[in-house]
Amino acid sequence: MSHCRECGAPFWLMKTDQAFCRNACRQAFHKRRYERGAQLYDFAMEWRGKRLRGGFTRLCRIIDDWLRENRERADARKAHMRIEHEKGR
Ligand SMILES: [Zn+2]
Repeated sequence: MSHCRECGAPFWLMKTDQAFCRNACRQAFHKRRYERGAQLYDFAMEWRGKRLRGGFTRLCRIIDDWLRENRERADARKAHMRIEHEKGR
């Protein structure tokens, strides 16, 4: 038994390297990763290209936003799972 890296749902491993419960979760995870990578690229090129001041602070802010989004998504997921669990009683 493992837990999905995207939705947190428990699932049985079909392959040892499996990290997601279904294709939609895998796609959502990689789409966000791809978009964040592009955001980071654009920022890095602007930062160094224009020699912007305060770039490191802005970089930290971008990452902090992502971490907060991850936490909020995990909290929403836990709340949803709790509601589903209570419905099942
Ligand atoms: Zn999932």
